[in-house]
Amino acid sequence: MHPDLERVLIDTATLQNRVQALGTAIAQATVNAPELVLVGILKGSLIFMADLMRSIGREVCYDCIAVSSYGASTESSGVVRLNKDLDLDITGKHVIIVEDIIDSGLTLKYVHDLLLRRNPAALEICALLNKPERRNVNVQVDYRGFDIPNEFVVGYGLDYAERYRNLPYIGVLSPRVYTH
Ligand code: 5GP
Ligand code: MG
Ligand code: MG
Repeated sequence: MHPDLERVLIDTATLQNRVQALGTAIAQATVNAPELVLVGILKGSLIFMADLMRSIGREVCYDCIAVSSYGASTESSGVVRLNKDLDLDITGKHVIIVEDIIDSGLTLKYVHDLLLRRNPAALEICALLNKPERRNVNVQVDYRGFDIPNEFVVGYGLDYAERYRNLPYIGVLSPRVYTH
């Protein structure tokens, strides 16, 4: 385990099994959708989306969108900003937004509302992690990996000040790393 972690929350094998199950669920739910597009929210969803798209087992396109709300802090600023838009036209397509973690829900609400205005045939949300205690805007998560407690986690794409994204598991960061 990385020395900056308090404990491992979700190990590699558990992550892989759950991602495979999400991929199977998405494949079943989209059998009648001719065009499926995954939209990853950079940068945190990158590793999850890479594994997820290979577990879906059908033709899928992907694109990325970049937004920011956090900066180098463990608390959301509450303001979401669009840093990079999609390249693909999603009109008439079955779109699934792929996110690493849903906390307050502000990021997903912003991206969902933005993409809905482009008239996709369907617009769903897939989030690997969910912190139910922290939700303050209502968003429907169609595919969800794990509900987790209200602790700051890193790894498998999730960072603290751009560190720890490449850890192959999810761990709870020791508060001593971010409290000075
Ligand atoms: P929300 O807008 O739902 O409050 O926050 C979503 C974003 O905040 C996530 O995409 C992620 O970037 C960041 N975030 C929320 N909770 C955590 C956490 O426990 N660990 C990390 N690394 N990022 C988090
Ligand atoms: Mg994110
Ligand atoms: Mg971050």
